[in-house]
Amino acid sequence: MRFISTRGGGKAHTFSEAVAAGLAPDGGLFLPETLPDIKHLLCDDQRVSYADLCTEFLSLFATDVDKGDLRKIVQETYEGFDSEEMAPLCRLDEKIFLLELFHGPTLAFKDFALQFLGRLYERQVQLSGKAINVLGATSGDTGAAAIHGLLGKEGVNVFILYPDGRISPLQERQMTCTEAENIFPLAIEGSFDDAQRALKETFRDSEFAAAVGLSAINSINIARVLAQSVYYLYAWLQIPEESRVNVEFVVPTGNFGNVLAGWICQKMGLPAKTFHVATNQNDILHRFFSLGKYKVGKVIPSYAPSMDIQIASNFERYIYYSEGENSDRVGSIMSEMDRTGEYDASNLALGSFRSSRMDDEEILKTIEKVYRHYDYILDPHTACGFGDLRGDRTSVVLSTAHPAKFPEVVKKAVNVIPTHPKLDILKDREIRKYTIDPTPASIKNFIIKNQ
Ligand SMILES: *Cc1c(COP(=O)(O)O)cnc(C)c1O
Repeated sequence: MRFISTRGGGKAHTFSEAVAAGLAPDGGLFLPETLPDIKHLLCDDQRVSYADLCTEFLSLFATDVDKGDLRKIVQETYEGFDSEEMAPLCRLDEKIFLLELFHGPTLAFKDFALQFLGRLYERQVQLSGKAINVLGATSGDTGAAAIHGLLGKEGVNVFILYPDGRISPLQERQMTCTEAENIFPLAIEGSFDDAQRALKETFRDSEFAAAVGLSAINSINIARVLAQSVYYLYAWLQIPEESRVNVEFVVPTGNFGNVLAGWICQKMGLPAKTFHVATNQNDILHRFFSLGKYKVGKVIPSYAPSMDIQIASNFERYIYYSEGENSDRVGSIMSEMDRTGEYDASNLALGSFRSSRMDDEEILKTIEKVYRHYDYILDPHTACGFGDLRGDRTSVVLSTAHPAKFPEVVKKAVNVIPTHPKLDILKDREIRKYTIDPTPASIKNFIIKNQ
């Protein structure tokens, strides 16, 4: 299988090349050249293990990786999860299921992809004999998941910029209490945007980037999307057969990565009926799917902070398919969007998408209602998935984080403080962070000294 750019430029890449490059050379995003049929993975009524399903699915794409090696990487990837099923499906009632994706090391669904990506980076270092310095900026979950995916990996150093005092104390502890030699949390004076700007400028110095083997952790790596597709298939196999009609996957959405991972499964043969894009008050994607107009606005901080975005970086992959795989069209739409912040899909065919939005007040009410009805505590991101559920569907709501990651919001809603042993042990550990200026010069200096 080869991977091509959404914008049509450059040569086709192998899986390993596409993973190492992250972004395509023409600025587009990688996608498989063709989408294979996966129906044979869905007719197995025997219980297949998560790791086996994952290996079989990924081997359709990672055709340049020896299947035995792939199996080993996948097994290691999910070893640290605290549920034997990795992604257990929990039934709330006749019609509503929750797919729990928070059993990984940092208690959010991003572990599924970043634990895998970490192993792929490690393999890359082993094959090339060249060390990698990973540089990223985070406002929370991604940084923590990336750090835990790369913890202690030979030949890999991780530098994560974050705004000092502006992320939740628990998220800071997840990044700074790792006790690992190769992890460098960099607290900067300023906002997330300041961190992001300094990061971009650092990458722009291509001589420096090449000299230290600089690599980005971003949400657009194709390996992340494919690793996330697996749990949609696994969820399907867990739905009782009589309920496998009119299935709607409900996905709390920010960058559009997670819901895209499910939607491409449908293109490969997963017989889901609809994909429900659930946003918080930063509702750019809900506005798009309800009005056909994509218009970038200002981010308003919400109770579901990992969905506080205005530019959905994976959306370009959706545009590629919805525009009939016309890469010239994608290129012109993306440059138009860069210029005006807008995309008008006047002939939008909704296809299998639905959408909804939820503001902070509704998030609190939903957490309270679900707790009262089902004795189940939702995290604020997952709560967004309960807006506008339809009675004529089997709803599978993706539960993207454990409630203990967001104790303040949950307490406000139900007056209970959720806990988790993985977070409790952090409280006794020493915080190790480095304070630096958000300038390319100080970032480069720090990397050179500590690589
Ligand atoms: C990242 C994140 C999301 C949003 O996922 P996207 O792939 O960006 O759509 C939702 N919930 C939680 C808890 C997250 O960490």
